[in-house]
Amino acid sequence: MPRPADLSSALLSAAGSIRKACAYLALLALPCATPLAAEPPSDSLPPDVARFILANTEFSLMHEMGHMLIIEYDLPVLGREEDAADQLGFLALFELYSTLPTAEVDARLLDIADYWRLEWQRPKPVRERVLAWDSHPLDEQRYYNIACLLYGSDMRRLDWVPELTELPYERALYCDREFRQARKALDWASSAYQHKAIQRRAAIQVTYGQSSGAIPDFDQLLAPLLENSNLQRLAEDMVKLFHPPRPLTVRVMACGAPDAWYNSNIGELTLCYERLAHFRDLAETLPRLQPPYAWRCPNANANTLSAC
Ligand SMILES: [Zn+2]
Repeated sequence: MPRPADLSSALLSAAGSIRKACAYLALLALPCATPLAAEPPSDSLPPDVARFILANTEFSLMHEMGHMLIIEYDLPVLGREEDAADQLGFLALFELYSTLPTAEVDARLLDIADYWRLEWQRPKPVRERVLAWDSHPLDEQRYYNIACLLYGSDMRRLDWVPELTELPYERALYCDREFRQARKALDWASSAYQHKAIQRRAAIQVTYGQSSGAIPDFDQLLAPLLENSNLQRLAEDMVKLFHPPRPLTVRVMACGAPDAWYNSNIGELTLCYERLAHFRDLAETLPRLQPPYAWRCPNANANTLSAC
């Protein structure tokens, strides 16, 4: 019969081997449960699903913020506005996430790229497909665009991104240049109108509408946004960064479709509950990409959004 010390070292050794195997499987984008993480309470979402919902809700909001900036400040735009809104929104998250641990930032940004991969690859009816003539990029293009911006933000540290996301070498080679170009535009947009904004004292309000009753486990779905006032704080930080020229409202509400938009007539950004539910459905039902060092945090509290 093994002594307790032998038993614990044997278990640690086994856990280390499993973790190494899991890291390998994660690189292959295969699902694998960490043996050391505590099980979350049954009435809350798994932490990685909650993070996926939060990150993609934040990106949806920041994409609409990109439209807001372009419209409100009549910014010059070369190329499609939808591409510019993606770039402004995604780059802004690097600023807005600057106080988070690096592993959490990487995981959230990868979740955003991963959403477009899932959206691209999931079977869907023709009416839901983005077609070549649309003003939006194809889901497949949005996936590679965002994966490239993520990799280009720090190609040395994030050298695992091209392999994990299957970003081809021909595109990956110049991702640092793409990131710098987008960064330059963001810096310009966030500094060009500060003087006006200080005079106008812009503010932002986040409101939550009633559930339509059609979304199951509604409170569970909303929890990642409400925890630590996550969405409210992001919206307030966004105002400090971009100085919108007038008061804005972020309205989270039931609208009958998984949508989001900016209404320039009333200065309102709308996020639909159905969109959050769609994020949850994808995260819960399809295999997801995992950053490799998600497996290096054996003491992480699985009940919080922070990986480590
Ligand atoms: Zn858009």
